[in-house]
Amino acid sequence: MFIFGWYSFIMPDIRQNHPLRDLNTFHVEAGARYFCECRSIKDLRELISSPEFLKGPRLILGEGSNILFSDDFKGLVIRPHILGREIIDEDRSTVKIQVGAGENWDDFVAWTTTWDFGGIENLSLIPGSVGSSPIQNIGAYGVEAEQAIERVFAIDILTGQKLTFENEACGFRYRDSIFKGSWKHKCIVTSVVFRLAKKPVLNTGYQQVADQCRYNYFLRARCHLISPARYRSTIADRNWPAYVSQTSELKHC
Ligand SMILES: Cc1cc2nc3c(=O)[nH]c(=O)nc-3n(C[C@H](O)[C@H](O)[C@H](O)COP(=O)(O)OP(=O)(O)OC[C@H]3O[C@@H](n4cnc5c(N)ncnc54)[C@H](O)[C@@H]3O)c2cc1C
Repeated sequence: MFIFGWYSFIMPDIRQNHPLRDLNTFHVEAGARYFCECRSIKDLRELISSPEFLKGPRLILGEGSNILFSDDFKGLVIRPHILGREIIDEDRSTVKIQVGAGENWDDFVAWTTTWDFGGIENLSLIPGSVGSSPIQNIGAYGVEAEQAIERVFAIDILTGQKLTFENEACGFRYRDSIFKGSWKHKCIVTSVVFRLAKKPVLNTGYQQVADQCRYNYFLRARCHLISPARYRSTIADRNWPAYVSQTSELKHC
């Protein structure tokens, strides 16, 4: 009895036949043979030495907005739910923020704009988690995540070793990165460091948002000088149908 209690204390909580309905944006009624939510790197390291992990197959799940389940997943679904935001460095013009992979992307964007930090306001309302943002190098309205990502921290899923990918090593391209290529299924992103501007000049190259901005805030021009929060709320105002139809990768599990 004692041994069992101790084992379950140190091992991550692996559930069997876990429903995924509330863990994917399409609310598909799928289930996972095994499911584990990991709240720390330590949890992830313990998980990768578990029999359920070693048996395979595995799926890393963020917020499930770019995954379409067509059936139950027969292996282990891993949800890296590592939370936290920390300013790790700053100078007069920039701030570097390390954000846990499990943070909601849009909550993070909203938070940055309330502090007037600029760089990712164009990526407002994109569904998903921070940990997924480098995977397909999310982008919208003329801005890609790669422009703000300084580095990505991950762990190697076979060894548990900590990996650091500087921006140039991420192989960012349009909706693509090495995390969809040579590192696919080989690492789990644990946190991302973003470099944002303290006195931002916004990217207002997307004509329709710029026009809406001028209309909302009675500007003749210079909408690139408004605050990131105002730009964000302009994007929210629009809520274009096109925005909603941009699901790019459908995965059949
Ligand atoms: C309505 C709607 C609008 C969208 N608009 C846009 C848009 O404007 N621009 C855009 O770029 N995308 C857009 N997308 C796509 C989606 O928002 C992004 O792909 C987002 O990054 C997915 O995040 P997620 O956490 O839901 O990832 P999931 O769907 O859970 O996973 C996506 C992929 O990333 C992998 N993954 C997830 N977390 C990790 C991790 N921590 N480590 C390693 N791998 C991981 C998964 O295995 C999977 O391969 C949209 C999607 C929807 C449904």
